[in-house]
Amino acid sequence: MSYQKKALRTEPSYEAPQSRLNNPSTTRLVHAAMGLQTEAGELTDALKRHIFYGKELDRTNLKEEAGDLCWYLAILAEELGTTLEELQELNIKKLQARFPNKFTEEDATTRDLETERQVLEELPERFF
Ligand SMILES: [Mg+2]
Repeated sequence: MSYQKKALRTEPSYEAPQSRLNNPSTTRLVHAAMGLQTEAGELTDALKRHIFYGKELDRTNLKEEAGDLCWYLAILAEELGTTLEELQELNIKKLQARFPNKFTEEDATTRDLETERQVLEELPERFF
């Protein structure tokens, strides 16, 4: 049996995923996720060209790509019913739980995921 036939034996049915995709909210989330991937790829490509091809690092282009990432994050935040500011605050709270004093390799590798989850589920104070 060829690799292709062996691999495709494990392919799922697309009926249920298709019905879940047929939803405006999910479509918006997928658009944001795809956009974040492609913009992260553009950022990574610019760094690859600098590091491995010797191309001058174009920081203006890196800022452009960072802005593009923000654009897709804004869509994601809106669809999740939150704001970029709230996501930033949640991220800081999670990092404070993970690294109570400062970054350490031990804290990075022995994470308390239950505590981090509790922090993420607490509603932060709104900025507006
Ligand atoms: Mg871009």
